[in-house]
Amino acid sequence: MDDEGNGQDPGVNSDLVAAPGPGEEAAHLGGFFGLETPTGRSPLKREVVSEVSLANQVAVQNQEGKQKSKKRYLPRELRIRMRNDVLKYNSLGLSINQVIKRLKMKYGLAPAKSTVIYWRKGLRSPFHGIRIPSLNFLKPSEDLAYVIGVIVGDGFVSQRVKPRYGYKHSYIKQYNIGLTVRDVEFAEEFSKRIARVLGRAPPRVRLNKNCKWTVEVQSKTLFELLTKPINIEKIKPYVEHCDKCIYMFLRGFFDSDGTVLKDGTIILYNTDYEVLKYTIYLLEKIGIETTSKEPKLFQRAGKLIVDRSTGKLYKGNKDNYYVRVRKESNRTFLKKVGFTVERKRRRLEVYLGKDIFR
Ligand SMILES: [Zn+2]
Repeated sequence: MDDEGNGQDPGVNSDLVAAPGPGEEAAHLGGFFGLETPTGRSPLKREVVSEVSLANQVAVQNQEGKQKSKKRYLPRELRIRMRNDVLKYNSLGLSINQVIKRLKMKYGLAPAKSTVIYWRKGLRSPFHGIRIPSLNFLKPSEDLAYVIGVIVGDGFVSQRVKPRYGYKHSYIKQYNIGLTVRDVEFAEEFSKRIARVLGRAPPRVRLNKNCKWTVEVQSKTLFELLTKPINIEKIKPYVEHCDKCIYMFLRGFFDSDGTVLKDGTIILYNTDYEVLKYTIYLLEKIGIETTSKEPKLFQRAGKLIVDRSTGKLYKGNKDNYYVRVRKESNRTFLKKVGFTVERKRRRLEVYLGKDIFR
């Protein structure tokens, strides 16, 4: 399933058509120029058939090396590659026919001419709201590392199933990832960075009924990457891409789950022992020492915990562990990792005698 609420997009099919007849071609262009076609049939009113299952069929066939040209749908990844090529050839000044010829040479097939025209004009794209359709399209960056750190910490990852509008017995899966926190600058930072990762506008930062700031986006790809318990092997290439990515992962994680005590001690709490162990390794790698080589037990499952932001009591259902940064490493921590969260950063700066508000 790779539909993220795009089932309602009536234009969704037209760039999937492999080879329409001449009549259909005219219909496409009619719709494109906003004209009514002689038949009165606008291409935008086509029935949305199950694009997903068909694309999957083709994908499966491709894997088996038995691609059938009769199939009308191409897998999304292939369409995205083709569309990128179309844009490239376009910038080289090639005509539409030349572009199609090149696509056929490269891929053995090409999308409909009308589709190529739409792509060239930027009127449609195979992304259809799915900016990062699979992990293959996710590029390592400081922004992504930060987002991963935040989600590994306090962020949430959830799946929802809702009825597809206008269809009986048809459902859309929603993949949500987001964050609910008390510091607005933290929520805004997350929104800004996840927007750059997904190539979209920053999601809105809302105040929820508990007076906390919430940001939420839908992304199947990030959902798969960050489902809990976190698969460390999966996130590694993004987290350890370079030193700066490590810094940003840690900043996201410490923004989420880190605390600076009044005496300047930096502590990170989490229920995932393995993730904390990995964090100790990362901190060491960038020259920040911790007080122990292994995460330490903070609180056993079943104990009452006070949520400091709401004052409510709840029972922890998992053991809680912590990692403590050696105070000798505080300066390095501030320089390399730092905090987005103002109150945490200030406390650390005050401790280090670098109060910028003096
Ligand atoms: Zn990097």
